[in-house]
Amino acid sequence: MHPETMAVHAGWRRDASTGAVAVPIYQTTAFQFDSSDHAANLFALKELGNIYTRIMNPTADALEKRVAAMEGGAAALALASGQAASALSIQNLAKMGDNIVSSTDLYGGTWNLFANTLKDQGVEVRFVDPADPQAFVRASDDRTRAWYAETLPNPKLRVFPIAEVAALGRPLGIPLIMDNTAAPMLVRPFDHGAAIIVYSATKYLGGHGTAIAGMIVDGGNFDWAAHATRQPALNTPDPSYHGAVWSEAAKPLGPIAYILKARVTLLRDLGPAISPFNAFLVLQGIETLPLRMKRHCETALTIATWLANRPEVAKVIHPSQAQGANAELTTRYLPNGMGGLLGFELHGGAAAGKRFIDALQLFYHVANIGDARSLAIHPASTTHSQLDDEDQMKSGVSPGYVRLSIGLEYADDLLADLDQALKAAS
Ligand code: PLP
Repeated sequence: MHPETMAVHAGWRRDASTGAVAVPIYQTTAFQFDSSDHAANLFALKELGNIYTRIMNPTADALEKRVAAMEGGAAALALASGQAASALSIQNLAKMGDNIVSSTDLYGGTWNLFANTLKDQGVEVRFVDPADPQAFVRASDDRTRAWYAETLPNPKLRVFPIAEVAALGRPLGIPLIMDNTAAPMLVRPFDHGAAIIVYSATKYLGGHGTAIAGMIVDGGNFDWAAHATRQPALNTPDPSYHGAVWSEAAKPLGPIAYILKARVTLLRDLGPAISPFNAFLVLQGIETLPLRMKRHCETALTIATWLANRPEVAKVIHPSQAQGANAELTTRYLPNGMGGLLGFELHGGAAAGKRFIDALQLFYHVANIGDARSLAIHPASTTHSQLDDEDQMKSGVSPGYVRLSIGLEYADDLLADLDQALKAAS
């Protein structure tokens, strides 16, 4: 089936007991076991089933199956936030003394997680410029457990060379983890060789600015056992689960060693579980994701083209404006649309940027993206304010940068708001 069909159907048909067609919100903490043997089998992972909502829940399960199917992956894990998804995706492989290599083109919250919190936990993150895929190899050593990047990194909106980097990592036993938050339906990272996908489902998947949620998807396409020295977390006995070796223990259940371990150890121990209600909201959002992404992309392109012709605007940041190698990446990876995000710089710099934001009437001024409503923000003073000036520039945030997340409104109404705000700012 095509992703458009899977967005409505994958992972769920009907409730076995009531026939309910919409996925019910299974608002329960625990699940009755059939017998003592059944309970023991579930705890021993001899069969998979519901035990306790911190670890799994039928509403979350439908969401996980749907997203795994749409991405062409083996299995998924729904979590309380995108931040939890990014953190667990690394912690599942890297322990104290290990390192990962990450693209510099990152959401500010991920940058902080990597540069500070993971560092405090003993995991070093080495940042490299993704313009040169070989930089990932040069920054790696024997303790490098993963490479990490965003498909369509906000705010630079420079498409990441997924296939090139993934292909360099595979022979070394290093999986590429892709944050695909800004590009669902537009790019399927597993098709290009990525091993793991993470999402802030808070954004386009949910799509209505109503729920914080995250996802990790396991491509089931990485041979962990073939790289036992490189990937000890999945190939050595885990004392927290009776000495299970995850690459072995998961075999009867499918190529899901990575995501199984994340669920039954990290989610069990750290606890960032998604609520059944939020899982329902994200499922509801996904049903219209294909339609919404099309509309977000069309309107954002219209607005980017319009802004590029405005005298007040010094520069437009949108994949359609990419030059040289970046333009080639856009053509290759984004034939189905260039996303709903765009940025621009005003000739008047930071002061004009702030005046512009304050003058907006239809656009909301909020720290979010991927909503049905159009949103605007000045990253240097908000989302990226905890980075120093140098790190802000590395992640693409210049002082006058204004970011827009284009919603589902009629384009002319958005243009009218932008027009009056540009005039007010200049
Ligand atoms: N990844 C990206 C690309 C994001 O934009 C965000 C949030 O803005 C996150 C991860 C973190 O997600 P959440 O806010 O759901 O924790």
